[in-house]
Amino acid sequence: EPGLEGLNGRRRIGVMGGTFDPIHHGHLVAASEVQSFFDLDEVVFVPTGDPWQKADRDVSPAEHRYLMTVIATAANPRFTVSRVDIDRAGRTYTIDTLRDLAKALPDAELYFITGADALAEIFTWRDTDELFELAQFVGCTRPGYTMDPEVIAKIPADRITMLEIPALAISSSDCRERRHRGEPVWYLVPDGVVQYIGKHDLYRPKTGQNETGH
Ligand code: ATP
Ligand code: MG
Repeated sequence: EPGLEGLNGRRRIGVMGGTFDPIHHGHLVAASEVQSFFDLDEVVFVPTGDPWQKADRDVSPAEHRYLMTVIATAANPRFTVSRVDIDRAGRTYTIDTLRDLAKALPDAELYFITGADALAEIFTWRDTDELFELAQFVGCTRPGYTMDPEVIAKIPADRITMLEIPALAISSSDCRERRHRGEPVWYLVPDGVVQYIGKHDLYRPKTGQNETGH
């Protein structure tokens, strides 16, 4: 349909995968910057499914993470949220996310948005070669992380763009730890997400437990 097409006739869709436990302004600024830089038609946020195996911490239930993502993105007409990873059984692999989205959006050019910390581990992901066929990669640099130039060099040069995102040292772990310590998360996450966290008593204070080992 005309109007839905980019200059080359294909819609350009950003894909922002994450645990979003909780979603914060770092995620939102990164998505907004990439949207504007590539003039994307849409950015789809894709919360990961529940891990089938508990790793080193408890991840909040997918429905909470999904709803916080919906609340945080609701006001932006270019932001949407997908349930593909939540509705797929088992652990989330980016290759499955991209295969499912490519199938659902056959006319789209996909831009997978990732932070530098996640990108640094890309060669440990499944089916790396196919990843770069399915999407362009956009690596967002964030304070405290410097990308290993050897990792960048291994990514096909025409499939990756590194973008510097304005100083946002916000992380979900920090937001959770602040809640555990009884400190506020106001202004680190959207107001509606602060209220949702309070309503459902997520990341409740840990009493009498020491926080070392993180
Ligand atoms: P955690 O602290 O639990 O690891 P997180 O803040 O890294 O959480 P994720 O849901 O793991 O959030 O991240 C989803 C994606 O967003 C990843 O690609 C990550 O690198 C990126 N990202 C996270 N925080 C920022 C930020 N402040 N600026 C830019 N990108 C970010
Ligand atoms: Mg992370």
